[in-house]
Amino acid sequence: MSDGKGRVLVVGGGAAGMMAAVMAARNGKTVRLLEKNDRLGRKLFITGKGRCNLTNAADTEDLFRAVVSNPKFLYSSFYSFTNEQTIRFFEDLHVKTKVERGGRVFPRSDHSSDVIRALEREMSRLGVEVSLLSEVKKITVKDGRAAGVELSAGERIPGSSVIVATGGISYPSTGSTGDGYRFAGESGHTVTELYPALVPMEVREPFAGELMGLSLRNAGIRITDGKKKLYEEFGEMLFTHYGVSGPVILSASSIVGKRLRDRELTLHIDLKPALTGEQLDRRLLREFEANHNRQFKNAVDGLFPAKLRPVMVELSGILPEKKVNEITKEERQNFVRLIKDFTMTLTGLRGYSEAIITKGGVSVKEIDPGTMESKLVEGLYFAGEVLDLDALTGGYNLQIAWSTGYLAGISAQ
Ligand SMILES: Cc1cc2nc3c(=O)[nH]c(=O)nc-3n(C[C@H](O)[C@H](O)[C@H](O)COP(=O)(O)OP(=O)(O)OC[C@H]3O[C@@H](n4cnc5c(N)ncnc54)[C@H](O)[C@@H]3O)c2cc1C
Repeated sequence: MSDGKGRVLVVGGGAAGMMAAVMAARNGKTVRLLEKNDRLGRKLFITGKGRCNLTNAADTEDLFRAVVSNPKFLYSSFYSFTNEQTIRFFEDLHVKTKVERGGRVFPRSDHSSDVIRALEREMSRLGVEVSLLSEVKKITVKDGRAAGVELSAGERIPGSSVIVATGGISYPSTGSTGDGYRFAGESGHTVTELYPALVPMEVREPFAGELMGLSLRNAGIRITDGKKKLYEEFGEMLFTHYGVSGPVILSASSIVGKRLRDRELTLHIDLKPALTGEQLDRRLLREFEANHNRQFKNAVDGLFPAKLRPVMVELSGILPEKKVNEITKEERQNFVRLIKDFTMTLTGLRGYSEAIITKGGVSVKEIDPGTMESKLVEGLYFAGEVLDLDALTGGYNLQIAWSTGYLAGISAQ
């Protein structure tokens, strides 16, 4: 085995790498997995707030709709290793699962560590050699073929195939520092433009800071560039010291992020999405009639959470001390418009350290979608987030890692 014949080397012990190692070993290969951290699956450990939303129970066909970049490329991998197979795979490894809101699948224990331990146990059962604290510095390519890897510590390890599963560059503290992009570039591959995605956004207006900590459970969100609507959705959002976050905002960032890097966009929030303008106007009338002798600033308690009240009063243009019964119809209607279209200026994305995923990566044009093998270098495979693939939240990004890891694992010779 000193020439590495028949030995599959997997670079990166995250979701995609561990799945690839299991599948290559089940396929009868000798497998060595190289992970630079002192333990496996550090990012996997923090997924789903430590609970690991490992896939989504949607119809397999619906998975593609949640993929933002290159969904067509995933056709073979999603159908070779579906979300149902992912669930069965983990159930067979004694990780009982449950389905929550929006089809999100979690381990029944609510512990991501159970997912990691199951993969570790399976690799151990199959005889995968796991080398921790083993940072790969270079992929060796000879005569257009992957021939092995070189570790930062100097060791050269020969192999007949190399699977690069080094992840993206978001949350770099987990070990995903973008090394795979360098390996890809050095072996002649194109790496598309990278930027953070599923990431909070910054807001210009100082009042956003006053709302820090406020969470809106069911807000209507619209993001526009001038008159052009870029994104519209309902959901939960959160105000932070720099701007906005929360599920609906993170999803929006994946769609509008590229444009937001070039120019500012407008965020429109409908604070009462369940009511039409007329219904809201009638509600305001009722609220004002019940409080008709109070000052405006003291008559909005029933309408908004406490943090939002002073901001809405200030933005309304109505004098805070004005008696409610003196508010004109026009003022009230302007207030309705403000509640239905509370706007602020989005100035940019937060950085990689706060991004759930990296958008961009190894160009899928140079990868065989049926095997994950490079079209440029024989025996070199890419799997997981290192590829130019990304999806919305809901377990879809891990499904990409499992499915592409699966294909690379069973294909590597
Ligand atoms: C906070 C957070 C929460 C998330 N929650 C979810 C969720 O609930 N559901 C979901 O579907 N997705 C979630 N994601 C996204 C998901 O974690 C990633 O899409 C997924 O982990 C990608 O898997 P991967 O194997 O490609 O990369 P990673 O999991 O990043 O693994 C890459 C591994 O490669 C190792 N490595 C890197 N370079 C080298 C090198 N040179 N030599 C050796 N080893 C190396 C790294 O140390 C790392 O262990 C979340 C992400 C974050 C940051």
